[in-house]
Amino acid sequence: MKIAIYHNDNDHSVEVLDELKTKILARDDADIIFDDAHPDIVISVGGDGTLLSAFHAYEQQLDHVRFIGVHTGHLGFYADWQDFELDDLVNSLVHDSKESVEYPIVQANLFFTDQTQRTILALNEIVIKRSFGTLSAIVDINGDYFERFRGDGLSIATPSGSTAYNKAVGGAVVSPSLEAMQLTEIGSINNRVFRTLGSPVILGASDVISVKAPDAETDSVQVAYDTLHFVSEQIEKIEFKIAPTKIKFAKYRHMNFWQRIQTSFIGPEEK
Ligand code: NAP
Ligand code: MN
Repeated sequence: MKIAIYHNDNDHSVEVLDELKTKILARDDADIIFDDAHPDIVISVGGDGTLLSAFHAYEQQLDHVRFIGVHTGHLGFYADWQDFELDDLVNSLVHDSKESVEYPIVQANLFFTDQTQRTILALNEIVIKRSFGTLSAIVDINGDYFERFRGDGLSIATPSGSTAYNKAVGGAVVSPSLEAMQLTEIGSINNRVFRTLGSPVILGASDVISVKAPDAETDSVQVAYDTLHFVSEQIEKIEFKIAPTKIKFAKYRHMNFWQRIQTSFIGPEEK
C-alpha cells in the first residue's frame, strides 16, 4: 500500500507527522511505502482546511485515492482522527479493510468570453461574488429560467460542506449519504426587479444550475472554492452539478456525521 502524508506547517502538525511516519516505519508486518505522487491513501494532518487542500492536491486521482484526516487543532469534520489515536490508525492501515465511505462533490464548468472553458471541483462549496458591489446573475435550473439574483453572492455547497460556509449563510445541514447540492443566496436584494426564492434550494443528481451574467456585466467575478479562489473579468456562464466522481474516505471505523455535528455545534445536554 502506498501512502502520502499531506500536512500543514504548524509545529504540532509537523510533530504528529514525524510520529506517524516513525510508527509506520516501525511496523515490519506492514506492506506500506511512502509515495507522494501516486498514493492509495492520503493522510491529511492538520485541520479541515488541510484536508480540503489535500483533496485539491489529489483531485486528479479521486478514482483510486482514499483520504484520512488527522486533526491537530480542534475536532474536525473531515479530520476526525485525533492525535492520540495514531497507534489505532497505524493498526488500521496495516490491516487495511479496503472499505471506503463516499461523499458527493460539486463541479462547476466555467465558460469564458474568449470561448475557453475550465472545470473546477469542490469538496465544501463554490461561492461566486463580485469583488466590489453586488453580483447580478440570471439563474437557470435545468435549462429553464429560475430567478434573477442581485446581492452579495451565491453559494453551491456539497452535503459535507453544508456545515461550513453554507451553514453560516442560512443553508440546511445535509447528510452526505444524499447525492445533493445546495444553492444558497448570500445577502440577496429582493424587489420587483430582482426576485429570488429567498430560501436555500437542494438539488439532486441530474440537476444543473446555470448562472449567467446579465447583459455585458462580466466584470470581476470572484470564484472561491474550498481554500482556493480566482478572479476573472471574462466569465459568461457557470454550470454547477454534482460531479460524476466522489471523494472516498478510508472506512476504518464508524464515522457518525450527526454525532460530529452534535459535538461541534451543540455539546452535552444540560441537566
Ligand atoms: P478557515 O477560515 O480556516 O475556515 C473556516 C472554518 O471552517 C475553520 O474553522 C474550518 O476548520 C472550518 N471548516 C472547513 N470545512 C468545514 C466543514 N466541512 N464543516 C464545518 N467546518 C468546516 O479557511 P480554510 O481552512 O481554508 O477552509 C475553507 C473553508 O472555510 C471554505 O470551504 C468555507 O466553507 C469556509 N469559510 C466559511 C466562511 C463563513 O462561515 N462565513 C467564510 C469563508 C470560508 P479548520 O479550522 O479545521 O480548518
Ligand atoms: Mn482552516
